[in-house]
Amino acid sequence: MTLDATLKEAGLSPAVAPHSALGPVARASRPGRAPPRVSFEFSPPKTPEAEESLWQTIRRLEPLAPEFVSVTYGAGGSTRERTHRTVLRMLQETTLRPAAHLTCVDASRDEVDAVIRDYRDAGIRHIVALRGDPPGQIGGRYQPRADGYRNATELTAAIAGIGDFEVSVGVYPQVHPESPSVANDIEVLKAKVDAGATRAITNFFFDIDGFLRFVEQVRKAGVTIPILPGIMPVSNFKGLRKMSAACGVTLPDWLGNLFDGLDKDPDTRRLIACAVAAEMCASLEDEGFSDFHFYTLNRADLVYAICRVLGVREAA
Ligand SMILES: Cc1cc2nc3c(=O)[nH]c(=O)nc-3n(C[C@H](O)[C@H](O)[C@H](O)COP(=O)(O)OP(=O)(O)OC[C@H]3O[C@@H](n4cnc5c(N)ncnc54)[C@H](O)[C@@H]3O)c2cc1C
Repeated sequence: MTLDATLKEAGLSPAVAPHSALGPVARASRPGRAPPRVSFEFSPPKTPEAEESLWQTIRRLEPLAPEFVSVTYGAGGSTRERTHRTVLRMLQETTLRPAAHLTCVDASRDEVDAVIRDYRDAGIRHIVALRGDPPGQIGGRYQPRADGYRNATELTAAIAGIGDFEVSVGVYPQVHPESPSVANDIEVLKAKVDAGATRAITNFFFDIDGFLRFVEQVRKAGVTIPILPGIMPVSNFKGLRKMSAACGVTLPDWLGNLFDGLDKDPDTRRLIACAVAAEMCASLEDEGFSDFHFYTLNRADLVYAICRVLGVREAA
């Protein structure tokens, strides 16, 4: 049903609410428009309590029928067992399609290949291939092991050689901190695609125009795989500031202003976080993007609310 028809049915004249007067969220969730496809990223729990809380989160988000869910791999491979366990449990106990993150850090090629084979044999069909960062030092100088994979390109090739996997890789709309230029990042992305990458997921960002320019350059360079915007719903602005500085993401003034003075008011911060993320996604939908990857930080409430605003509903 068109917007005009919906308004007429509700007894409203289209002139009362012309399409152009709607903001991005209202446009994105208007009747008849297909909701976006979503995916969710989790990290493996560290304690039994965190595990319990993660599973509550997973159960709450599962009915939204995400395209896939992914589980991160801790710095230095520190969560190898926990990532594996979480991904397998998702496969065995839920309807979700889990993807395992895997990095090159502090492991030999043989060790990494064994992990890939384990995933293949367990029925996992999607790996997020990353180089990783030096332990305890996001943004620090990376030293590959002599017997290890040097970067995500080599890891992607290994994964593609071992099994029939979907391989997602990371991209950085604001340039990776170690990269000399966007052009270099795009060359690296092309190499990853040539090695077998089937999808790119972006680091979080808040500069939509910058992201659109980046995607335009990637497409001009001939890269055609899907690029999923990575959306970080932020309710802890102080924590975000630290993380952003480490991974080269700039935070716009307007975002800081929104959270100014709210250090002791987590409820309001969460409401703002929901509004910001929903508006970002809706604006990106206006630009033709229909897949969003949410960094959940293992919490369901914000992401669930954002998905509702965007028109994503429980599967019937
Ligand atoms: C969506 C997403 C999820 C993430 N999940 C995790 C996670 O679970 N665990 C974790 O530890 N980190 C994770 N990270 C962070 C990531 O590990 C870091 O950003 C890391 O610094 C770079 O990883 P990468 O895979 O992008 O590196 P790469 O693409 O390998 O790039 C790293 C460096 O290698 C160079 N390089 C790569 N390929 C080539 C090539 N073919 N020829 C020459 N040089 C090359 C690049 O120029 C760059 O300087 C994630 C990042 C993103 C965007």
